[in-house]
Amino acid sequence: MRHGEPSVLAIEDDSDIRDLLKALLSREGYSVEEASTGRGGLKAFHQTRPDLVILDLGLPDLDGWQVLERIRDMSDVPVLVLTARGAERDKVRGLNAGADDYLTKPFSRVELLARLQAIRRRQAASAQKEPRFVYDDGRLTIDFEGQQVTLDGELLVMTPTEFRLLSSLVRHAGQVLSPTQLLELAWDDPSGLAPSRVKYAVLRLRKKLGWEDPSTSPIETVRGFGYRYAGVQH
Ligand code: CA
Repeated sequence: MRHGEPSVLAIEDDSDIRDLLKALLSREGYSVEEASTGRGGLKAFHQTRPDLVILDLGLPDLDGWQVLERIRDMSDVPVLVLTARGAERDKVRGLNAGADDYLTKPFSRVELLARLQAIRRRQAASAQKEPRFVYDDGRLTIDFEGQQVTLDGELLVMTPTEFRLLSSLVRHAGQVLSPTQLLELAWDDPSGLAPSRVKYAVLRLRKKLGWEDPSTSPIETVRGFGYRYAGVQH
């Protein structure tokens, strides 16, 4: 891998699509690693630690979901999921499972590059915008600049969206934020996204934090209005 250029790992068993990705992304200045199987993809991921992953869900050995899960166990690297046309249910599942975005095959060059640019913009924005400030309520800490979250002293691995969602709720602690407001706060390009996206992201975030019990969850659902960070109970 060369230095100074963003690296992409493309995990895709269809050699035509892999070649297309390689050609397009190289031209855009990415260094491209390829893998044609799930296991090969995970191995390449360990070895190259790419800045971005493009993951096909239909792989010959491992299920694409398993690959996504294992990547998420290790890293919050942005993952763009590729799937077959018409598999709308995959979209919800993919976003729920920690994918950052989703692209249906066949896709156009323009679509692919737009998605990648949006992901990179979000990465850059979340790296730059947050002022240096560490939230600490005794149990939960958020280092906004370092983008690290700890709960009871344990470091949590979060996706960029999860991190921004939690940060937005905590920054507005005590206030109810509507799904539309949260889309604007935590997603860089909320246009065209359904508020249900927020619901799934909140569910996933609560699960990650062990805050699933609605009666005690610090992230409260205010039915008909949205969500409120009510603080961690001591
Ligand atoms: Ca495939």
